[in-house]
Amino acid sequence: MTESTAERKKIESVRQRSRIMASVRSKRNRSTEWRLRGALVSAGVSGWRLNVAKLLGKPDFVFASERLTVFVDGCFWHGCPKCYRRPKSRRRYWDNKVLDNIKRDKKRRADLRRQGWRAIRIWEHELTKSPQRCVRRIHHALTKSPIRRTPASPSTFSWSLRV
Ligand SMILES: [Zn+2]
Repeated sequence: MTESTAERKKIESVRQRSRIMASVRSKRNRSTEWRLRGALVSAGVSGWRLNVAKLLGKPDFVFASERLTVFVDGCFWHGCPKCYRRPKSRRRYWDNKVLDNIKRDKKRRADLRRQGWRAIRIWEHELTKSPQRCVRRIHHALTKSPIRRTPASPSTFSWSLRV
């Protein structure tokens, strides 16, 4: 194998790997999101919308009346302090990628706060361990909503305790 063929093969395998990782990533994110969605539905919490793209940072769940956003973050991609383990290979690549994500997450939360939104982050491991606990956190934030509601603008959020 000539050196350039080897080089080309290497580039090709890196490309392929990032394509695979991207698809794994979006699938995994969708499935954790669906898990929380299921937990909210079975607890009787409504009034949210999914993936409001126009809002900064594309939160996974948005409770518009309460100005509350919820992010469901994968432990690996977002560098969970509890679960993140550095991969054995291509460490520099993954370190940079995960650090970029951490920085982006921080910025998007700060941007939302500046615009009067609150943000809750739910880690993938928290959702796996106890979806009910995640729902309770969201419920707590919703009931402590700083927005004073008038009869003209009723909340779309409703809650019945079925946890
Ligand atoms: Zn975690």
